[in-house]
Amino acid sequence: MSDIIKLLPESVANQIAAGEVVQRPASVVKELLENSIDAGADDIELIIKDAGKTLIQVIDNGKGMSATDARMSFERHATSKIKRSEDLFFINTMGFRGEALASIAAVAQIEMKTRLHDEELGAQICVEGSNLKKHEPGAMMVGTSIAVKNLFFNVPARRNFLKSNPVELRHITDEFFRVALSHPKNKFQFLQQETKIYQLSQANLSRRIVQLFGNNYKNQLIPCEESTKDLKISGFIGKPEYAKKTRGEQYFFLNNRFIKSHYLHHAVITSFENLLPDGFYPFYVLFLEVPSAEVDINVHPSKTEVKFKNERVLYGILQSTIRKSLATFNVTPSLDFDTDVNFELFTGNPRDKLIGGRQERDYSNFRTLGVANRSEETWKHLYEMAEREEEEFHRKAEKELQPKIIPNEADNYPNEKVNMESFQLNKQYIIRQIKSALVIIDQHAAHVRILYEKYMDNLTRKSGLSQSCLFPQHLDLNPSDYQLVTGIKNELRRLGF
Ligand code: ADP
Ligand code: MG
Repeated sequence: MSDIIKLLPESVANQIAAGEVVQRPASVVKELLENSIDAGADDIELIIKDAGKTLIQVIDNGKGMSATDARMSFERHATSKIKRSEDLFFINTMGFRGEALASIAAVAQIEMKTRLHDEELGAQICVEGSNLKKHEPGAMMVGTSIAVKNLFFNVPARRNFLKSNPVELRHITDEFFRVALSHPKNKFQFLQQETKIYQLSQANLSRRIVQLFGNNYKNQLIPCEESTKDLKISGFIGKPEYAKKTRGEQYFFLNNRFIKSHYLHHAVITSFENLLPDGFYPFYVLFLEVPSAEVDINVHPSKTEVKFKNERVLYGILQSTIRKSLATFNVTPSLDFDTDVNFELFTGNPRDKLIGGRQERDYSNFRTLGVANRSEETWKHLYEMAEREEEEFHRKAEKELQPKIIPNEADNYPNEKVNMESFQLNKQYIIRQIKSALVIIDQHAAHVRILYEKYMDNLTRKSGLSQSCLFPQHLDLNPSDYQLVTGIKNELRRLGF
């Protein structure tokens, strides 16, 4: 028998390797944004078309590349960030594997323009499916622009696996948020289909959170801060009453790199203890700083899963930090004295009256509430009123406790059809006797079920009726939620909205 093992052609090997790094447009976004950060850029523009399926472009004002480096950057295992294996334990850049550009180039058409600060001319390079198409000098801005076009143009199977535009866009926005949150000092722009969705000016973390999530996050952030010898924690958690039923606003950054950790998430959730209703997730953006020798970030190509040496200690400290923040917040709630209803009565604020052209406080509330001018007569009257009310209460209660006799249909009226009575208990349950049993219906659950059936029916038969409101309702959505809603517009219509 002849030998059958052959080395794969490089282009095929590249495509296979690309599968690890580039799963979807969002993976490209992540890699390009991280490269810009690593290049020291502080002004980064992200341009997306068709949810990244036709164009993903990142333009930065970073240090740029020489013509030779620009060409080299597309080679597999070509990196400027590490040199020796020991370097792996002291990583302070976002990237280091030297795979991203090579992988992206294997499955897309790339146009790169780059110029070093002290060079007059820059380099322009086009690569298509790992093949160099163009490499020439040219005039351009300092920094780097990389445009990735027609992702998976040469791997139709993968292209077909991409989800709908709203879904892919959601993933892209997630990546954008992660980078923007961990670099509040940097300026970012996010353009989509030629519309500017985000324009983020230089900020601190709390302001960056508000820039991304919306103004209503201003009042719900509780700061978290802790520092021990080997661990620093900083960031914000959301007040428990703002927790949401959907996940997605939980962020951990380890040494400023976004990570996922069920273990640490658990530490946060349990710190909220019974402050959260079941199934609600609190908002958090938490930064952990650990000496790089204490973690291994090299366990996964996208580097979002990490291994800690002292996971338990980290868990404990995180938990106590969050508990402390919550407690501090509970002791000194950030009350807004101007609008808090309990104070309104005593400051009389909204009831200020214009008397003789001057504004004067109306203290009539004090007078009716106050006790100073109550005569003995009034006290007596008050007591009598209270007594009467109490009697009334007992009479009512007794009446309600009288059992109602439910006639038994089968026994008493064998030949008659009787309209059976239903009983309502606690305004919550409907109790009804049927031939051989007693039915207890949870009114609320039944209502939900009926609505569910109705909406499912509308959805499947596309028959939801709707009517325009006389006065339109305004909904304030942050830009990415807006994108999401426009994505499910048709379903909402069918539901009758
Ligand atoms: P890695 O980031 O792991 O080093 P990449 O394939 O992402 O690998 O990039 C390869 C190299 O290309 C980087 O090490 C860097 O030197 C260079 N590079 C990539 N993007 C940029 C950029 N936007 N600005 C400057 N240099 C860049
Ligand atoms: Mg990189």
